[in-house]
Amino acid sequence: MAYTDSLHDAGLLPLILPVLPPESAAVALNGASGLVLTGGEDLDPSRYRQRAISALGDVHEGRDLFELELVHAARQLGLPVLAICRGIQLLNVALGGTLVQDIPSQWPHAIAHDGAPARDDRSHEIRADTGSRLAVALGAERLRVNSFHHQALDALADGLVATAHAPDGIIEGVEWRDEDWWVLGVQWHPEELSRTDAPWDRALFAAFADQCSRRQRASVVT
Ligand code: MN
Repeated sequence: MAYTDSLHDAGLLPLILPVLPPESAAVALNGASGLVLTGGEDLDPSRYRQRAISALGDVHEGRDLFELELVHAARQLGLPVLAICRGIQLLNVALGGTLVQDIPSQWPHAIAHDGAPARDDRSHEIRADTGSRLAVALGAERLRVNSFHHQALDALADGLVATAHAPDGIIEGVEWRDEDWWVLGVQWHPEELSRTDAPWDRALFAAFADQCSRRQRASVVT
């Protein structure tokens, strides 16, 4: 409900898609004004041409296949995309990038990115690049975020730019390189923070809602 509450607070009407066959992705987005990719299981490393290491978590084949196709459909439709946690990872893999399968075993010098006691615990800092779409959406370049991920982005997909990082270099935010597609991905969980005192996470949902409403106006006109 944190996702749907955050979206509704931003003035949107959230609709939840079940896992469907990938060939239904384009029609599932018919009438939608935006796409949110949510948190969840690890992606199957075969999606990015790697073998699973032992620290890999649970995977969900049907969800992988459907959501990968949702990204391609959103790209074709030009739908704004907000990708959260698993979502940023899925976005990167859908567009050709790879993942760190397990931060503690593959990046031993990383700070703690998982295991905070509360969902709204802003456990580490991030820095967003000056002038980036993400920094503009957040209204800040330095902020603290929550962190519940043991995976991270590794090689970036062509077209994605990393515009926010944790102090250890882990990618915490990405965006699409060009103006033709509004895409923001974040590794933290803004939906758990949108009702806290700090304005950044509400501002992120508001920026997404603004893009969705532009899209709606455009579709009414055309
Ligand atoms: Mn983190």
